[in-house]
Amino acid sequence: MIKGRVTKIESKDYYILSDAGEIVRCSLPGKFKNQFNKGKGKQYKLDIVAVGDFVTVNLNKDGTGSIAKIEERKNQLSRKALRLKGGSVRGERLEQVVASNIDNIFIVSSIVGPKINNKVIDRILVAAESSKINCNIIINKIDLDKSSKTEYWKKFYEAVGYKVFCTSALEKIGISELHTYLTGKVNLFWGASGVGKSSVLNVLFPHLSLKTGRISDYSSKGQHTTVTSIMELVGGKTFVVDTPGIREIDPFGIQKIDLAHYFLDFVPYIDNCKFNTCTHFHEPGCAVIDAVENDEISIERYESYINLLDTIEDGMNF
Ligand code: GDP
Ligand code: ZN
Repeated sequence: MIKGRVTKIESKDYYILSDAGEIVRCSLPGKFKNQFNKGKGKQYKLDIVAVGDFVTVNLNKDGTGSIAKIEERKNQLSRKALRLKGGSVRGERLEQVVASNIDNIFIVSSIVGPKINNKVIDRILVAAESSKINCNIIINKIDLDKSSKTEYWKKFYEAVGYKVFCTSALEKIGISELHTYLTGKVNLFWGASGVGKSSVLNVLFPHLSLKTGRISDYSSKGQHTTVTSIMELVGGKTFVVDTPGIREIDPFGIQKIDLAHYFLDFVPYIDNCKFNTCTHFHEPGCAVIDAVENDEISIERYESYINLLDTIEDGMNF
């Protein structure tokens, strides 16, 4: 029996990094699925085992293994699963676990080429906050910034309460500060295509075997078991979780009434609304709307909030 951590899931193969530093290909016995199905409530999860999970494995003679025990997760970053054919019926929501037991999430954006998208950043911030995972922002390609937009967005998100790293993978700016910050931690990187996530990772960890362009290997499979995140030990106790197959992270399992709690800049105002059921949309006596009108909360953040509110269906029970 050995202990280890799930680093990659590919179809029905679970790749475990053992405490001794070896990769063992494992299967998941059917009993887990049975137990799992019995325990399900209103929430339908796709992933019994996720990248980042700590597991105990029984070794087979041929060097492969069989997962015997899955430890409880400290946290997990989930997203609303893409609708699968026949996989979801009315009233159900499918949760896909992107990764578990994470210390830091880094949202990688580029200031230009493609232009920074604060709506996308805000969606992931909500997913991170609702999972209680520390989230940070990387603004990359600052070498291309000709109009000090970087400074604007850095101040913007710092005012909300996030740490913002400004980098250029090309000119190796801001990399050592980032490296210091994430050392010894489990760090998940997410970024829209083309922002330079792979470039930043490659400059941070030149020996990393995650490569640009590997995404095509994964997307060709067309199953929900397609690889979406990969964990790699990059030295000492530092891990990187890359998410090449994750194009979007739509927050999972949030109710309208709770959404504002995941906007850190709204939190100081929420309790002052006239109604404790306030969704800060049109209700009279809303302290959040007042704060927007008084420029205490930015209109950009409020628009992100309204957009997200709109995606949450009424009466969803999680
Ligand atoms: P990914 O899709 O987010 O992994 O992006 P890549 O790392 O593949 O980078 C996309 C493109 O942006 C490539 O052509 C990179 O050379 C370029 N790129 C990445 N980082 C920087 C940067 O800091 N500055 C500039 N000017 N270009 C960059
Ligand atoms: Zn309100």
